[in-house]
Amino acid sequence: MKNIPVIMIIFGGSGDLAHRKLYPSLFNLYEQGLIHDNFAVIGTARRPWSHEYLREQVSDAIHETHDQVDENEVKAFASHFYYQSHDVTNVEHYVTLKKLAQELDDRYSAQGNCLFYMAMAPRFFGTIATHINDQHLTGSGFNRIVVEKPFGHDLVSAEQLNKEITASFDENDIFRIDHYLGKEMIQNIMPMRFTNPLIKNIWSGEYIKNIQITLAERLGVEARGGYYDTSGALRDMVQNHIFQIITLLAMPEPKDLSSDSVHKAKQELLKSLIIPTPEEVKKNFVRGQYLGSDTTFAYKKEPNVDPDSTTETYVAGKTKFTSGPIAGVPIYFRTGKEFKEKKTRIDIVLKHINNPYGQAHSNNITIEVDPESKIYITINGKKIDEPGIRSEDLTYAFSKEEMAKVPDGYERLLHDVFVNDSTNFTHWSELKRYWEFIDAVEDAWQKENEAGNPEIAQYLPYRMGPKEADNIFESPTEHWIYE
Ligand code: NAD
Repeated sequence: MKNIPVIMIIFGGSGDLAHRKLYPSLFNLYEQGLIHDNFAVIGTARRPWSHEYLREQVSDAIHETHDQVDENEVKAFASHFYYQSHDVTNVEHYVTLKKLAQELDDRYSAQGNCLFYMAMAPRFFGTIATHINDQHLTGSGFNRIVVEKPFGHDLVSAEQLNKEITASFDENDIFRIDHYLGKEMIQNIMPMRFTNPLIKNIWSGEYIKNIQITLAERLGVEARGGYYDTSGALRDMVQNHIFQIITLLAMPEPKDLSSDSVHKAKQELLKSLIIPTPEEVKKNFVRGQYLGSDTTFAYKKEPNVDPDSTTETYVAGKTKFTSGPIAGVPIYFRTGKEFKEKKTRIDIVLKHINNPYGQAHSNNITIEVDPESKIYITINGKKIDEPGIRSEDLTYAFSKEEMAKVPDGYERLLHDVFVNDSTNFTHWSELKRYWEFIDAVEDAWQKENEAGNPEIAQYLPYRMGPKEADNIFESPTEHWIYE
């Protein structure tokens, strides 16, 4: 691997993401020799920390995520970190920041390469982008920016943010990050689809009956009630993670594996995404809110949540494409808080075929993404000592040793940013399309809210969400495979 000279500026250097994900991931890249001599990281936030205090924080973050570390390595790594107290809304602070970045660029021979990471509340992204531009923070080498999710709140705000960022950065230098695209099993979707004749040849509406995606969370909104109430499950999970998964499942085969070809294939598919009408939203979507239990609050009673809130903590829905290999195949998805367990999984349900044995289980291809990582195919065979057919799973799974080697999504994606590979990041034209879909659903819901009688299913916590979601299927022979 190459040593990439760079000065990295993290906005939100005292935050949760930086501590739990960015610092440990950077350390792993350092240990592998991807970044070694010519890099420095400036952590910024409002608090009056010293360089030394940030280094202690970085060292703590590494110890919290690694069982065994070489203390000299940790020390050497942390010595590359600098802290700059910085309020992102104060223009003058960018002047001080720029000065430090230039000093470090000289000291580390970083060749004018700058990487900006927006690890802060999304309401600040536009402000940061604007001041990077008007205070000329970009360097004379490459300038890349990583933007956390959510990228906008709807299409209009996403367009505005994009305008602010593209004032200083080219589309090729903007890395809109979605850590789902760094997950092992999500990265396995393309190889699975395109290298197995067994799978590739049945990837069409002729054989696939439907696709089901579940992103279930065990936790409620916890301390994030105030923010969550302005967002909801559709914006928080469907707009990004679920649509990324849908796109990988439905896109045509790219010409090759270059970032350009992969994005071209995605964009070709997304042109044919069907944007639902209000009637379709009413028919094909279910929104819900969790109820309370002996030990937990109902959503509407959570701290900082409006007691009359119409924000959904659960959504199930359906989508389809008019082109691509699975044109016309219904793709059902659901996501919610306070499910019975944390789980991300994809079920590809194959159509039944006529057979001389009569009743047989459908063949399903299941991809478990979290917390387990495996693919299994449900297939039928004979029962041993009685007539009839039984179904068994053929499983592709990782050993414990292999699992231990799987890098965190953030580590992979940060590496991609360093080597300028945007394959697993969201292109603006893709994001725009996702927002068009989300806005159509939000607008329909908003009209229902205004009409005064919105249908918001109330569901029991720690089960499988509202039973109303069992009614979104097109035919009575369809049902959720994961129950
Ligand atoms: P956080 O609240 O823990 O951290 C926010 C940071 O911003 C802190 O360092 C805070 O001091 C700083 N800050 C706040 N106001 C400031 C100001 N005016 N000037 C300068 N600094 C200021 O948030 P987080 O959980 O780290 O999330 C950051 C981003 O990452 C968000 O966009 C979030 O959606 C995204 N994200 C976080 C996680 C995660 O696991 N935490 C996962 C995925 C995405």
